[in-house]
Amino acid sequence: MVVKEFSGKGIVIKIDHDKCTGCGECVKNCPADVYELVDGKSVAKRVEDCVECCICVSACPVNAIEHSSC
Ligand code: SF4
Ligand code: SF4
Repeated sequence: MVVKEFSGKGIVIKIDHDKCTGCGECVKNCPADVYELVDGKSVAKRVEDCVECCICVSACPVNAIEHSSC
């Protein structure tokens, strides 16, 4: 299982790269522009900009995102 962990400002975002299909919903829906697709997988490049709205968690159709505040 490949789970990538990203942290900053006390927030931890884990993205399961086995589940991630690269659909881009997290990239498109995050109001703080935290996510980017790299080689077809989501990475949380800017965790420090996160406003803890939890939209990414509900936007992911395959439940690949785990967020410490959500
Ligand atoms: S919780 Fe909200 S601001 Fe934070 S990464 Fe998810 S969608 Fe973006
Ligand atoms: S919404 Fe989920 S499946 Fe789609 S790119 Fe983001 S993490 Fe991957």
